[in-house]
Amino acid sequence: MKIDLITIFPGILEGPFKESMIKKAIDQGFVEINLVDLRSYTHDQHRQVDDYPYGGGRGMVLKPEPLFEAIEDLKEKSEFDSPWVVLLTPQGEVFKQEIAYRLAKKEHLILVCGRYEGVDERVRTKLIDQEISIGDYVITGGELPAAVLIDAVVRLLPGFLDEEASTNESFNESLLEHPHYTRPAEYRGMEVPPILMSGNHAAIERWRREQSVRRTYERRPDLLRQAKLLPEDEALLDKFNEQEDS
Ligand code: SAM
Repeated sequence: MKIDLITIFPGILEGPFKESMIKKAIDQGFVEINLVDLRSYTHDQHRQVDDYPYGGGRGMVLKPEPLFEAIEDLKEKSEFDSPWVVLLTPQGEVFKQEIAYRLAKKEHLILVCGRYEGVDERVRTKLIDQEISIGDYVITGGELPAAVLIDAVVRLLPGFLDEEASTNESFNESLLEHPHYTRPAEYRGMEVPPILMSGNHAAIERWRREQSVRRTYERRPDLLRQAKLLPEDEALLDKFNEQEDS
């Protein structure tokens, strides 16, 4: 996968890709991440990328010309048929694991990071394929949302993590993951559930599934509506509901 990331502050994003899993993915050739400085698509002495909003009001807006030139140039240079252009914006669809899965199938992503009051509306209507928000809050720029998106997507690239690692996590099948324990078996009087040390793999899997259903019921019942539930999960949920009613 190739990812071009258009930003006026490329320095913000140098760190996150130099460590841990993303670095590994880059080093192993799973992904190429290219930080594109929007100012390199300006033609004036001050390399101006923003301007005052028509109609007045506070804040600045990212100008259309550098963004049009940048996106068109990156698309033209692309070795892939249809680069997918994503705008990070609090007004987009809220990012979820299923969106990450869909994006992981793309060959070339162009991510556009907004700043100030955002981008000129004509950029949004003409050039953007998808608008993504990382949650219902506003931060100062699209760089950190882009880093979140890249992290979530890269770890799903086929062959990068072993399949079990990515399919056993929260939000797969719309369930939260079961709790984890590591050594020591007892710490400050708190014990690891004995079943996890029993060696009985079927019983451990059952326990984990139950914990997963329980956690989702307790913390994110909204997810259960779309979860792929087994008959035993349904029975467990009936039990929780009965307990709550009594
Ligand atoms: N005036 C805009 C509005 O009310 O929708 C908010 C602009 S925000 C201060 C500046 C930039 O940060 C946005 O253009 C976007 O790229 C990014 N941003 C802020 N919050 C975000 C979020 N929750 N998800 C994705 N991007 C976000």
